Amino acid sequence: MMNAILKPGREKSLLRHHPWVFASAIQSLDETIASGSTIDLLAPNGQFLARASYSPHSQIRARVWTFEDEPVDAEFFRKRIRAAIQLRGKLKVESDSNAWRLIHAESDGIPGIVVDRYGDVLVLQSSTAGAEFWKDAIADILVEETGVPNIYERSDADVRELEGLKPINGVLRYSSIRNSEAAFKDRLSNIVIHEHNLKFKVDVQHGHKTGFYLDQRENRHRAGKLAEDRDVLNCFCYTGGFSINALANGAKSVVSIDSSADALALLEENITLNNLPSEKHVSLEGDVFQLLRKFRDEARSFDMIVLDPPKFAPTSAHAEKASRAYKDINLLAFKLLRPGGILVTFSCSGGVDAALFQKIAASAALDAGVEATIVEHLSQGGDHPVSLHFPEGAYLKGLVCMKR
Ligand code: SAH
Repeated sequence: MMNAILKPGREKSLLRHHPWVFASAIQSLDETIASGSTIDLLAPNGQFLARASYSPHSQIRARVWTFEDEPVDAEFFRKRIRAAIQLRGKLKVESDSNAWRLIHAESDGIPGIVVDRYGDVLVLQSSTAGAEFWKDAIADILVEETGVPNIYERSDADVRELEGLKPINGVLRYSSIRNSEAAFKDRLSNIVIHEHNLKFKVDVQHGHKTGFYLDQRENRHRAGKLAEDRDVLNCFCYTGGFSINALANGAKSVVSIDSSADALALLEENITLNNLPSEKHVSLEGDVFQLLRKFRDEARSFDMIVLDPPKFAPTSAHAEKASRAYKDINLLAFKLLRPGGILVTFSCSGGVDAALFQKIAASAALDAGVEATIVEHLSQGGDHPVSLHFPEGAYLKGLVCMKR
């Protein structure tokens, strides 16, 4: 086994079972370690701390597979994958949806691997050298343990660059008994999932992330229930998650904004798929920052506004700029809300924690000249668990605010 010895004092986070080791924490390293292969992390006195994958190109130089002195092999990953499957089973996700996150990287003990299940298709995202090293073994185990023969790979997120890995977007496993590869690919862009009795079309080949924002399932459902008889504005709507829920719950009208024409096209299909009243809905392709200003200038108003922007701050280094962007849209939204109106506002930025996000919302309300109360705190669903030792896993935070 290859070794990395940590600098004095830098073993502390590992002793707390945090799974990352930064390059700056490493004192010395065996020289011939292959990218993604398994190494032992040792304290300065030679004591075993953890077994980890090695990422020569990333600032996060090692990611822990296990804190125990146990082999890291296919059977190891089978145990982790089984545990992840069992967790979702205990959560009864399947009673609400046929689409959920099956593996949530660090929080399921498999750093670098995300797997989302969309009916009988798994979509896998590998984002680290270690994940890449074990990807094929993991794919085989996933097929065996889930009984799902189809895996599509969406390893095309920017973070792969930091690991020196090329983007991959393609078929990883499929059952040739059931369908030809061409037929399988065609189906990948036309998957229909259900969430709480609503249907959504998902394009796992071209959609964002693995195709759908599964982390918002419960929040879409919750927000939908508050939308009855309201004029709703859904900003950053993607394929209409919040819009469909609002329409299904008797919203008076829904305006949906996104910069992606492809996403809006799927939203329109989702309205039809659910037999919802399209005359109550308007799609606007454009920039939310500009359109909120336009609405303010036109003195338009709404009873409910959803803000679910993309990640403005991937890390805390981006927190300041991101805070300004969050404040900007939340301030405008507070202004556009009628008295008694509801703001459902989110941040999925790892670099902005829940406390900072709440402060941003408070200062947005203050500057908008609005009094508001928080009536609910929201976060990601339980199929996106958060290891207590890895607080970075808690990336999604939301507030439901009621304007006086
Ligand atoms: N609420 C959605 C997910 C939103 S993801 C759901 O429940 O599925 C964020 C969306 O913001 C993406 O669809 C992206 O296309 C869009 N987006 C990013 N920047 C934007 C901008 N400046 N103006 C409008 N839309 C934007």
